[in-house]
Amino acid sequence: MLKNLIMTAEIIDGKFLAHKVKEKVSKAVSTLSKENIVPGLATIIVGTDAASSIYVKNKGKSANEVGIKSFQYALPEDIVEEDLLELIEKLNQNNDVDGILVQLPLPKHINSDLVIDSIDPSKDVDGFNILNAGSLFIGRDGVIPCTPLGCLLMLRSINIDLKGKHAVIIGRSNIVGKPMAQLLLREDCTITTVHSKTKNIVKIVKDADIIIAAVGIPNFVNSSWIKKGAIAIDVGINRLKIDGKNKLVGDIKFEEAKEVTSYITPVPGGVGPMTIACLLMNTVLQCVKRNNMDQPSSLRNLF
Ligand code: NAD
Repeated sequence: MLKNLIMTAEIIDGKFLAHKVKEKVSKAVSTLSKENIVPGLATIIVGTDAASSIYVKNKGKSANEVGIKSFQYALPEDIVEEDLLELIEKLNQNNDVDGILVQLPLPKHINSDLVIDSIDPSKDVDGFNILNAGSLFIGRDGVIPCTPLGCLLMLRSINIDLKGKHAVIIGRSNIVGKPMAQLLLREDCTITTVHSKTKNIVKIVKDADIIIAAVGIPNFVNSSWIKKGAIAIDVGINRLKIDGKNKLVGDIKFEEAKEVTSYITPVPGGVGPMTIACLLMNTVLQCVKRNNMDQPSSLRNLF
């Protein structure tokens, strides 16, 4: 009752949930090791972008923590497309590798679509390959992109009925916005996607029961956009310099949004860690499929 009067959101702790997912992944890896199978994840980064380098390093480190073998490739910024495609083909053929991740964005002289589609769909752990993206769209089994999957698991963790909820997704990228919409549609949500050309965006967001913000503009959504009691999932990772210090902020004004939402994810410590946990899970799931094994029980019905 009091919660209706003074709304202070419960924080959905991405770090804690990611730890739980990683424990389950680790358990699945142990089960596979009894059959002498070690899942392998290859990460490829092109160039020296500081943020991308940190992401890729963290992915490799997290893989090792759960017993996944990590193969890391750091390629020069000026690598020719052909050489990158050749490396991917080698990894496609390498039986020790179950997942191949190419860190995006790639330099402009490289055709990202071509590179993504050159990854064997059975080793695609991002779900960006055209076959897996299409499977999600038509509701067939396939790999689900890590960030939207992380968001869904966070929603599941709070045990709310998603059926019929109005979810407004801000952003329509192939990496987050579009697959997120498909995934929530599968959960029987009513979906609205808004983007840079949308008119009356505030009015639309204000009607949302669930807001997924994936824009890449710091503090884009403020509390006046949010219906009381809505759930806010903040995908944005924006680097700001505040008082001379580097700070990560999301797309949602966290401090004021937590006063009107019922649940909210923080940045950092929200969607980011869940994305990595889901990458590890996808790697193990691809490994299991490639070895014609059943899905490990520890990875069924997560949350
Ligand atoms: P993107 O640049 O590809 O897409 C941004 C989307 O926002 C576009 O579809 C665009 O239409 C929309 N947009 C831009 N300006 C807008 C405006 N004024 N009003 C409404 N919509 C607008 O970005 P992305 O790859 O989808 O990533 C979005 C954010 O999420 C970034 O901050 C990125 O760093 C972050 N991200 C986080 C994770 C994670 O693990 N937490 C993973 C992927 C991306």
